[in-house]
Amino acid sequence: MRIALLGPPGCGKGTQGEIVCKDLAIPHISSGDLLRQAVQSGNELGRAAKDYMDRGQLVPDELVIGLIKERVAQQDCKAGFVLDGFPRNREQAEKLDGGLVGEGLDRVVAIEVSEPALVARLGGRRTCRGCGHLYHVSWNPPKVEGRCDACGAEIYTRDDDREDTVRERLEVYRKRTEPLMDFYQGMGLLRRVDGEAAPAEVSKRVFAALAVRND
Ligand code: ADP
Ligand code: ZN
Repeated sequence: MRIALLGPPGCGKGTQGEIVCKDLAIPHISSGDLLRQAVQSGNELGRAAKDYMDRGQLVPDELVIGLIKERVAQQDCKAGFVLDGFPRNREQAEKLDGGLVGEGLDRVVAIEVSEPALVARLGGRRTCRGCGHLYHVSWNPPKVEGRCDACGAEIYTRDDDREDTVRERLEVYRKRTEPLMDFYQGMGLLRRVDGEAAPAEVSKRVFAALAVRND
């Protein structure tokens, strides 16, 4: 199954992406993680992307589309995948529909969370440098402070999780990404899920949404 998760920063796409992919044994493709890996490796793409990311802006389409195209062409994506963070605007969505991933997407799940909850989540969010696993200082801290439970690597606060950048990211989401809801609604692919609950409860809703096609 080819799935895309849609929703604002902090809605739980990353957390749910991990859970769904483990359950369905398909790869979790996070455009943000791929970009952060490129930044960390210091390659040309990473250098070009970093400024946009630090400002909370979208990285130019040609960079992101190339990255996703390369990733979905890999062998492990044959049986499907979950896209997290892509598409983020109309151009990217049209590329997807136009054959970037084969026959296009099977499902799009939108995770809905109110703005105050998003700000609270992102403010306390911590990310593993090694595997990208997500934590929250208040309600989901790692067992050993500063270390990832899953892989032992360092846990850090992303530069773009600072409050002013969070506001900018939310605005970019409203302007550029939210209109994709209508796009996918029109294609009969969209399922909406209320994301304001504990991760395990949201997962149940996501799986329920995946089981039924909205057409
Ligand atoms: P979040 O969803 O919490 O904002 P991500 O890790 O998905 O975090 O993305 C972090 C940053 O990476 C974005 O603010 C943006 O700069 C860049 N980015 C990720 N995916 C895309 C995309 N599909 N198109 C353009 N930029 C992207
Ligand atoms: Zn880790």
